[in-house]
Amino acid sequence: MDLETVMSAARAASERAYAPYSDFLVGAAILTSGGAVHTGCNVENASYGLSICAERNAATTMAAADPEDRQIELVAVFSPNAAPCFPCGACRQFLREFGCKEVVVEDGAGLRRYPFEEILPNSFGPEHL
Ligand code: ZN
Repeated sequence: MDLETVMSAARAASERAYAPYSDFLVGAAILTSGGAVHTGCNVENASYGLSICAERNAATTMAAADPEDRQIELVAVFSPNAAPCFPCGACRQFLREFGCKEVVVEDGAGLRRYPFEEILPNSFGPEHL
């Protein structure tokens, strides 16, 4: 599956964001090693602290979909409010749990690919426990 297809899924997910407080819309699309694509959007909450990011939303959807296909090859992140839109720190750690290999974002020049080690260097993961 090509990167543009995955980013298109992230763009579509951003259109479903629930962000009445920040108006900051985000969509994420995860491509698994099994070839599945799972999407998520940010979902805010009146309590603010309970809001969840698009990336974690996509990851929990992935985890619930198929326990045998939880290896993340890449995540594409899109926001019409910020280009590029990178995952926050919490989401970086959450994606790390599932072995995310690459982060793809978009700016005015097109898609940008980042090895996960650049996104979250010297990270802590399941193998350290
Ligand atoms: Zn986040």
